[in-house]
Amino acid sequence: VNILAIETSCDETAAAIIQDGKRIISEVVATQIDSHKRFGGVVPEIASRHHVEQMTQVLEDTLQKASLSMKDIDAVAVTEGPGLVGALLVGVATAKALAFSHQLPLIGVHHIAGHIYANQLIESFQFPLLCLVVSGGHTELVLMREHGDYEVIGETRDDACGEAYDKVARVLGIPYPGGPHVDRLAKQGEDTLHFPRIYLEEESYDFSFSGLKSAVINTVHNAKQKGESLKKEDIACSFQESVVEVLVEKTYRASKDYQVKHVVVAGGVAANSRLREALGARFKDEDVNLSVPPLSLCTDNAAMIGAAAFNDYKKGAFSGLELNANPGLDLEQYGKR
Ligand code: ATP
Ligand code: FE
Ligand code: MG
Repeated sequence: VNILAIETSCDETAAAIIQDGKRIISEVVATQIDSHKRFGGVVPEIASRHHVEQMTQVLEDTLQKASLSMKDIDAVAVTEGPGLVGALLVGVATAKALAFSHQLPLIGVHHIAGHIYANQLIESFQFPLLCLVVSGGHTELVLMREHGDYEVIGETRDDACGEAYDKVARVLGIPYPGGPHVDRLAKQGEDTLHFPRIYLEEESYDFSFSGLKSAVINTVHNAKQKGESLKKEDIACSFQESVVEVLVEKTYRASKDYQVKHVVVAGGVAANSRLREALGARFKDEDVNLSVPPLSLCTDNAAMIGAAAFNDYKKGAFSGLELNANPGLDLEQYGKR
């Protein structure tokens, strides 16, 4: 089964052809980062316009790289939400047009389900499975008892983890998106500042990053006022150590409490080298399988959308042509329909 998948929820115009939910036949990601950089973040109107301009070419390239035509495609999948509504609409309209004109089933996919299923392109899921989702807009612990079943057992109460990375980067004068730069700087620094580790209530799987973000910003401003110099590398490292420790410990505790067989990581921050290393160390001697997607599958792509859509294909759970972009699509609700 070949699924043609489209992803346009944010600033990446992406398409991919995925076979049986597991094998990437071809994949294209056209990034818009350069267009948004000078604004220090994604500008929704610019994102939508770029998607419109690039979509046709991205689709042609995806088919050409696979040496396939639309006749070889069995279904069209698309990110339905969450994301920027104008950006999502471009993908949804394109997918509907393709499905209608080629008489193919249409499958709307939740963006975070996609991030989670990026892992299925590497290794088959074993249930119960726990996923640490750490992206630009989300930070949550998701428990899956079977394919397509999502229970959010913890989530951020304020900023998302990637958002905190990007804001700290901005304070350090690093261009958008700052996550990868902070990661690199941190490697050359030390945890000299010992920022607080925010665990919230003892039993909680929730996260909070706004306090840490403020602590970093205040530290930088105070140092500036006093004319002291702090090494950017140490600030980056201290911030990162605080973030990673909490992410790893909460994931570890949840994996024990729910006795999961498989732990996976998803979203842009899953590309973080320190997080990958610390998770690896924490689960090394544990009787649980840990998988971490390759870097290219952590940030936004369409392969992950095709991987997630395969379950719906098997179930015959198709969307009608009334499918619409849904910027507030809920993960648990999506799994239940
Ligand atoms: P969402 O998936 O929640 O809708 P998004 O699609 O914008 O949000 P992703 O593309 O999944 O987010 O991830 C982008 C985020 O990942 C950015 O905040 C970026 O800074 C962060 N990021 C990418 N690489 C790294 C890294 N090596 N270390 C830390 N953060 C990183
Ligand atoms: Fe994403
Ligand atoms: Mg992105």
